[in-house]
Amino acid sequence: MKKITKARDLHELLQRSRSKGRTIGFVPTMGALHEGHLSLVRAARRENDVVVVSIFVNKLQFGPKEDFKKYPRPWRRDLALLRGEKVDFVFMPLHEEMYSEGPKLGTVPNLNWGQSPVLCAKYRPGHFEGVATVVAKFFNIVRPDRAYFGAKDYQQVKVIEGLNRDLNFHIKIRMLPTVREKDGLAMSSRNQYLTPEERRRARSLFETLFGVRERLGKGARNLKAVRLSAIQRLKRNVNQVQYFEIVDPETLRPLGKAQSKMVAAAACFVGKTRLIDNVIIRVRG
Ligand code: AMP
Repeated sequence: MKKITKARDLHELLQRSRSKGRTIGFVPTMGALHEGHLSLVRAARRENDVVVVSIFVNKLQFGPKEDFKKYPRPWRRDLALLRGEKVDFVFMPLHEEMYSEGPKLGTVPNLNWGQSPVLCAKYRPGHFEGVATVVAKFFNIVRPDRAYFGAKDYQQVKVIEGLNRDLNFHIKIRMLPTVREKDGLAMSSRNQYLTPEERRRARSLFETLFGVRERLGKGARNLKAVRLSAIQRLKRNVNQVQYFEIVDPETLRPLGKAQSKMVAAAACFVGKTRLIDNVIIRVRG
């Protein structure tokens, strides 16, 4: 496994692989790796000749009051885990390498949410623009055949799919299922912020989402009632429910009526930690 910090170096090494006809799989991460990340790395390893993982805590996607500074950076452990997965290249650029002069006006993708921002975009202004910017840069540096993302960040996958389409990257965007702790909590680098007491309460996020999936699966069709009772339930356990929506899987807009495929997505604070999760729901008729 080669650790690379310069974009140009990585680009040139991968150019060599590509000229030999090797396929490239890419997994972007912010490090503090867990089984969720590793499931993406394993899929990339299965499906490509060369596997590239980036570890970069992208300042551009954090709000001024968010956790950029305290975001965990256990890089020795991360590197050991990636070595164990037989990753070929780890790209760990410094902030200055990615944004030497700061992103210039007009080079940051301008995301179009239609009438108004939805889900996390409403509460984290600039977040997805920051994500889209860094991922577009990574896509140009790596030029992967396939790029791997987790369903845990469903909205992010939709943003990346749009970016891929709009800018003609022609990369296969692969979305892999959310990996969960034994009790169901979605794995996240941010779970380590939780105290033991908060950790117990955090379960209710996925429990509520799975509850909604079950009710709809059993034939409930009044989305308004299902949503309101889910919010009530979640409120009993978390400090603040930021949103809880049942949305169309593509537009991410809240649904008035049930349809065959839906996504229930929620964000809440447990203590000071913001957690998100979602479930994909398929119903008959
Ligand atoms: P992050 O390091 O949080 O930026 O995440 C890097 C990638 O790992 C993103 O595509 C995430 O969606 C994915 N990911 C994070 N947590 C999970 C999880 N629990 N299961 C599956 N994928 C995940």
